[in-house]
Amino acid sequence: MTDRLVREKIVGQLVKTGRFGHKYAYILERSGYKCQYCGRDLLAREAVGMLCIDHILPKRIKRYEHPDNLAIACVVCNKLKGKWDSTNNGANTTRESRMAAAKVHINEKKLKKSNISALYERS
Ligand SMILES: [Zn+2]
Repeated sequence: MTDRLVREKIVGQLVKTGRFGHKYAYILERSGYKCQYCGRDLLAREAVGMLCIDHILPKRIKRYEHPDNLAIACVVCNKLKGKWDSTNNGANTTRESRMAAAKVHINEKKLKKSNISALYERS
């Protein structure tokens, strides 16, 4: 089976779950089915169940469910980002700058986590 056919099959399965309407199908397509923070291929066999929809800005904003405020993320990045505010006190005004800031934040948390587990491994 070619990669394209595998993807079509998986997308069909996603739609059948009822979790993905047109909007989510659109943002999935836009992301190339990859986590927009770490690049993990969310259609890979080992990524089954890891797909999340991340809200770039937290719930209090007006256009919360607008596609511009949504990003595809893996569960690891989504959890690490959490409710962290990517606006940087209003300095990050574009989707791109907010996503770039979120990427930095997630990577810092990943690094901190790996440093902590390295400490435990040493003792
Ligand atoms: Zn990720």
